[in-house]
Amino acid sequence: MFDTLSRFALHWVHSFQIEMIRYLIAAAGVALSYWALRRWTAPRRIQRRLASFADRRREFLLSVQTIAVFGVVDLIAFAAIGAGIIAIHRGPPNWAIFAAQLVVMIGAHDTWFYWMHRGLHLRALFLKAHAAHHKSRTPTSWASYAFAPIESVFESLYVPVLLFGISLVTPVYPLAIFVFLGHQIARNAIGHSGHELAWPGFTRSRWTGWLTTTTHHDLHHSEGRYDFGLYFTWWDRIMGTQHPRYHERFEAVARPWIGGAAQPQVATEGA
Ligand SMILES: [Zn+2]
Ligand SMILES: [Zn+2]
Repeated sequence: MFDTLSRFALHWVHSFQIEMIRYLIAAAGVALSYWALRRWTAPRRIQRRLASFADRRREFLLSVQTIAVFGVVDLIAFAAIGAGIIAIHRGPPNWAIFAAQLVVMIGAHDTWFYWMHRGLHLRALFLKAHAAHHKSRTPTSWASYAFAPIESVFESLYVPVLLFGISLVTPVYPLAIFVFLGHQIARNAIGHSGHELAWPGFTRSRWTGWLTTTTHHDLHHSEGRYDFGLYFTWWDRIMGTQHPRYHERFEAVARPWIGGAAQPQVATEGA
């Protein structure tokens, strides 16, 4: 009994450390590199309003709390792997299976997130579960994990569920989990960064318009009623929840990658 408890405690500490390192690299990496490249990033700022130090502090503290909750939810996956309920692939990878698992992980997460997020905006749940995240009217990369505990559980529960689902078909590749989680935090930190890195025409192009931009999620924070999606714009377009002026607001801050720093800034009016 004591052995099991100490194994779980050790696993929680391990999860906390790994997730904390991932969060710090992504949130601080985005904040520092945007600051270092400010001549290039400043004209791409989405809102006129600036996030304060108190905003960043709140986002950071909530994120640390979220990472502690993630560690607890991770124990479900840990126990399921230990019990053989979730099968893990050992040995050299088959790259086609690896790619297929990655596509499923990202696609399923996008769908999970959209519907969970719509649920969090229901009157019955919003104040308890999601208002904490929406305190960031002008989000920064530190808001990546700024969730109330209930949202933290909903956000992380997809990991054991997803791994179980994949493992019904084929043993899960640890490398696919690693790349998926890295992609998740990178997109999350950039999506909350408050600066639009995509170039003009990005949201209307048939090649890139299916990807969400930072403006997409920033509009969700400044206005709250539209743009619930995570990685892709599909669900918002299908369900009619895309911001009606999304393309317009995006074009107001998007700059070409080459020569964009020289152009004057036209920040949107949000918040
Ligand atoms: Zn929301
Ligand atoms: Zn957000």
